[in-house]
Amino acid sequence: MLTLKLNEIPRKMHFMQYKGNPHAIDVRKIAKTGIFELCAYVPGKPIQEVKEEYGLEEVIKLASNECPLPLPEKVIQSIHEETKNLSRYPDGHCRKLRSRLSNQLGIPPECILFGNGAEECVRLISQAFLNRSDTGLSPSPIYDAYDTAVKMAGADVVTISLKDYRIDLDTTLQHVDNRTKIVWLCSPVNPTGTIITRKAFESFLEQLPEGILVVFDEAYLEFVSSKEAAHALDYLFADARVIGLRTFSKAFGLAGLRIGYIVAHPSVTEVISMVKLPFNVNALAQVAALMSLDETEFVKNYVRINAKERGFLHEKLEKRGMFVVPSEANFLFVEIPIDSDDLFRRLMPRGIIVRPGSIWGLDRFIRLTIGTREQNLKFLSALDQVLAETKMTAVLDKGK
Ligand SMILES: *Cc1c(COP(=O)(O)O)cnc(C)c1O
Repeated sequence: MLTLKLNEIPRKMHFMQYKGNPHAIDVRKIAKTGIFELCAYVPGKPIQEVKEEYGLEEVIKLASNECPLPLPEKVIQSIHEETKNLSRYPDGHCRKLRSRLSNQLGIPPECILFGNGAEECVRLISQAFLNRSDTGLSPSPIYDAYDTAVKMAGADVVTISLKDYRIDLDTTLQHVDNRTKIVWLCSPVNPTGTIITRKAFESFLEQLPEGILVVFDEAYLEFVSSKEAAHALDYLFADARVIGLRTFSKAFGLAGLRIGYIVAHPSVTEVISMVKLPFNVNALAQVAALMSLDETEFVKNYVRINAKERGFLHEKLEKRGMFVVPSEANFLFVEIPIDSDDLFRRLMPRGIIVRPGSIWGLDRFIRLTIGTREQNLKFLSALDQVLAETKMTAVLDKGK
């Protein structure tokens, strides 16, 4: 029994008291089975944290594929306007946005289901469809939300390695068995930026047995220029197994508001809506997304800048003797001559944050978000400094 009343001791002491308390429970023992096998998401290091840690005024984050441009004034204005209504719950069905989007995409409103980011959509699909005996097939390395969602649903993950930095659909088919429920695909694929072609996707669908869902994540759709790329929207009605995923976080620049959506056959969205929280998308995200659909110039401009800068960075990195995977997205996957964690650590005090490949077990790669020209030049200059520095260290080490 605690002899002290909780409010008589400093708050920080509660934990200490609790630890010595004979009634304390070992929370780890009662936690859900398997929960410690989940890997908590490792987010890109926040700008503010790096600023404080190194006393920097400017930090350039090229780690999370965020939009580097300022948002359109009208989108910001729409958010300001909506703040007046924040004492009310949001529209749980995102009616206005859904109707606007259904017109734009030329599909019935019932085909669309919004989530708190596309990431929530990944969770919802898993919760709605996966039994414990099922498996989800996912490429590797890949955006980690798929595996986490499958494990959270108590099901098992089967991973299929990328081949030549692309999703290997043939090997994926070979791994399909009677436990397979979901195949996760991503085009362009995060982290390498390659696409799945229509031809490859159609051949895949033909060979895929009935009763297996194919989630086709197109978070980077707007940046794709290849005419050969497959798009989920083209398959929804012919094949109800196909579930498309899209987001406002990347090309629309609304990562901080958390809104993405599923496009699928109405029979599929109906099932998924069973597990959705009633108010999963907040009111500000809804109005901002709605307004951003009208700001077509913003997206066009960003896509244009991204394509130009992607070409620029690709060439500059190749000139430095590095291998760069041709990308259809707003990031590059780059093979680097030093350890990725080492590069990450040395770039940080210079005000640059990148994604080290070590998080996917690829120590010689980084994933680099395309920035503005100014940011990209700063990155290149910092990179050169680091490479010169490590060469120097290597020479010194040899001399010892
Ligand atoms: C960024 C990203 C998303 C979108 O995430 P949100 O939750 O909508 O911010 C989805 N899939 C992939 C592959 C991504 O890289």
